[in-house]
Amino acid sequence: METIALTIDGKKITCPAGSSLLEAADQNGIKIPRLCYHPDLKPYGACRMCLVENESGRLLAACVTPAATGMEIQTATPRIIKHRRNIVRLMIAEHPESCIVCAKGNRCQLRQAAANLGVGETDLYPMPNYKSFEEANPFMIRDLSKCILCGKCIRADHELVEIGAIDYNMRGFHSRPATVHEQSLEQSNCTFCGTCLSLCPTGALSAKNMQFAGSPAEEKDSICGFCGVGCRLTMGSFDNRIVEVNPAHDSESVNGATLCVRGHFAHDYLNSSSRLVSPLMRPEKEEHRELVPISWDEALDRVATRLKDIKDTYGPQSIGFMGSSKCTLEENYLFQKLARVCMGTNNVDNGSHAYGHYHTRILDEKTNGGYRLSHLAELKNADVIFVLGADPSHSVPVVAYYLKRAARSGTPMIVADPRRTELVNFSRLWLPVDPAGDLALINTLSALLLEKGSADQSFIDRCTEGFSAFKLELTGINLDDNGPKTGLEPAAIKSAADLLSGKKIAFVIGHGILQRKHAANTLAAVLNLSLMSGSLGSGRGGIYIVAKENNQQGAMDMGATPDLLPGRQPFDSKDSKRIWEQNWHTKLSPDGGLNMSEMIRAAENGTLKALYILGENPLAALPQHAQVKRALEKLDFLVVQDILKSETAAMAHVALAGAAMAEKEGAFTNLEGRVQSFTPVVAPPGKALADWKILNQLQARLGGTEPFDTIASIRDEIRRYVPMYAALNGHNEAWIKPAAQKAAFNIQGADERIAFCPVVSERVTPPDKNYPFTAIVGTRRFQLGSGTRTRASERIQEFGSAGQLEISPADAAALDCNDGDSAVVRSPWGEIQRTLRISTDLRPGHIFVPTGANGNDAMDLFKLADETEWKSCAVQIEKA
Ligand code: SF4
Repeated sequence: METIALTIDGKKITCPAGSSLLEAADQNGIKIPRLCYHPDLKPYGACRMCLVENESGRLLAACVTPAATGMEIQTATPRIIKHRRNIVRLMIAEHPESCIVCAKGNRCQLRQAAANLGVGETDLYPMPNYKSFEEANPFMIRDLSKCILCGKCIRADHELVEIGAIDYNMRGFHSRPATVHEQSLEQSNCTFCGTCLSLCPTGALSAKNMQFAGSPAEEKDSICGFCGVGCRLTMGSFDNRIVEVNPAHDSESVNGATLCVRGHFAHDYLNSSSRLVSPLMRPEKEEHRELVPISWDEALDRVATRLKDIKDTYGPQSIGFMGSSKCTLEENYLFQKLARVCMGTNNVDNGSHAYGHYHTRILDEKTNGGYRLSHLAELKNADVIFVLGADPSHSVPVVAYYLKRAARSGTPMIVADPRRTELVNFSRLWLPVDPAGDLALINTLSALLLEKGSADQSFIDRCTEGFSAFKLELTGINLDDNGPKTGLEPAAIKSAADLLSGKKIAFVIGHGILQRKHAANTLAAVLNLSLMSGSLGSGRGGIYIVAKENNQQGAMDMGATPDLLPGRQPFDSKDSKRIWEQNWHTKLSPDGGLNMSEMIRAAENGTLKALYILGENPLAALPQHAQVKRALEKLDFLVVQDILKSETAAMAHVALAGAAMAEKEGAFTNLEGRVQSFTPVVAPPGKALADWKILNQLQARLGGTEPFDTIASIRDEIRRYVPMYAALNGHNEAWIKPAAQKAAFNIQGADERIAFCPVVSERVTPPDKNYPFTAIVGTRRFQLGSGTRTRASERIQEFGSAGQLEISPADAAALDCNDGDSAVVRSPWGEIQRTLRISTDLRPGHIFVPTGANGNDAMDLFKLADETEWKSCAVQIEKA
């Protein structure tokens, strides 16, 4: 790398070519004041606080002046200090006098700059630029009287989160950041990610609950507990309550300076009055049998005794363990061990089942987990990005920021989705594929690319096997036959093939693929295309799986699923079983296990007698709530370990009060394979305990294995037996390690090759005249998953999360419906009623039903089957 040598304040320094003077100073520990600069934003030179003087006495703004060889720079001469003081005096003269009650308090960078420069009360004529508070939303307050026009909010909006909700309006003294036509934020396309708020150097933008509340007493870093991005947070607490959340000051974090509305504002669910704060038990003899508080010893003794009795009476297969992809790695490891070793059953699963995450097993098996090492930061290196069935702007917003930034900087993006999602505005090509047409689309594209001769033969020869058979199978696929299955015009498919031809492709796969019964076939087709194009492992492509929950990958890695042992070792492999039997000094169950849906059906038919649910709310997460309720009612014994008094917890015989992520220690694995550990920010409320402690105490009562002394000893065991987690530790970040010698796509050369998958075609189900519409369900950014946690967030609830049903203008007209009318949607399995919103994002014949709202009743439209066909279904719709 070319370096530049210069002198700053008499010190000879070097910096990489292309650095600004400010960056050069920062890299060499020389502090230059700044207000409008942020390392993640383009330099702007607005505040002039970073003025420096060069060898000829010229004043330069250091943030926008490139460092050059031989420069001699002074950063703090009397002349510079005088200019800086004047800048601050002018800003303060324009500032209102409300500093004493300002939420920014001593964290205000203007106040800090004034203090550093010895500026107290200014002697300039005060000209406060009063503006009224803007605070209709429940998340943030804009007090633009305090705005110093640094432009950080606008640049964050444009450069980091790519929303474009605000820009400068007016000129001179009246200039201010504003939405189009000065609408309120609520009426604009602002997503309330709060990135502007975190970057604002003054009190112009503040979190609503913090106004007049002073600064948090303490700040600690943690990891967001909502989606699979795993954003690093700094959480501020006061009196053992989380009162503020910001992105952590960590340039290496996945999220940098950004968050989304959930990470920034929905963590108030931690302070919800619906938290479980003590173990509860349902008395056996009283008439009304309400759950009543009991001691931990009573609760755990009761759970252990009942589970042992049921095992002795009905056998281990009569007990199920339904865990959580929201819980930590350590807890997931402990939970499946409790099931397999203490209780002798393989009936263990986790909440990611509802999102079809288990289908990704095909990718793991084919690449030995190597496909997972696709870092989000590498998306910008892709030749082309292909987004399939994913709406990350709502489900995993920080992934959407990466995609939008890549698209803005010129990377072509193709979006295949039946709806016109936000990403379509950033794409080169939108393919409005039919909800079940993805497999046909991918196979057709592979066939077209083969015809064009755009296969990467060198990669294929080096890293794959079975290409000849694959080629042969593709000859049976053609645009004329397959095109109609996609619902797309042939010209659109050809355009996509043109864009992909000869390129390294980054695939971003979402729940439009995963929550389908035949998702594994589509994932196999994606893998084939990725191999054929030489994209996998190239550093310019890869396969990114959208994980809706924070530890989806980790729960699977820890074996909290019936078909996998820890380390993603297949349960049906004799070798894997033997290894884990040796590790645990036990004999594992010869029987296969039940997944979440199967456990509910087994409870319904009476074969499952006891269910231990950890951190899940199947009454909201699974389809057919009434059926799930009936099944849970039939159980002899239901234990629910959770943080909230959910619908499911209310049915428990014993409810165990667990701790949320900010209240305990542990680690999550994000969708990139980044393993992030964290420590408590606050103590759990009341008598609630960290979930690993509860599981550990139960393990001690159930026997069969030695309980762990500390969380560190759980990590030791994971590190010892699960090589992909060899780097797991308690104090920072690591990455999973796929078995290195098997990472065949490693283009440096490897012994093993990845085999192409068979080409599979699916029959397209003919339309049902009785159910002429297709309902597509999906996430809206304010409610995640079943909405159990986001519904407990006061701010999210206040903003409104009614979950309006969306319909195309043509269908609304045909049904004689207007915005705000109510409609009934009916599938063969159930019906729901929602308010309508007319949306041009939908094509005629499609409606969109947001999940998470109304107790997640959208899931009542689906059948509770063993496999997750839970993304779209045929429905009828009528005005209510
Ligand atoms: Fe949390 Fe996901 Fe939002 Fe990041 S993108 S703040 S992990 S919900």
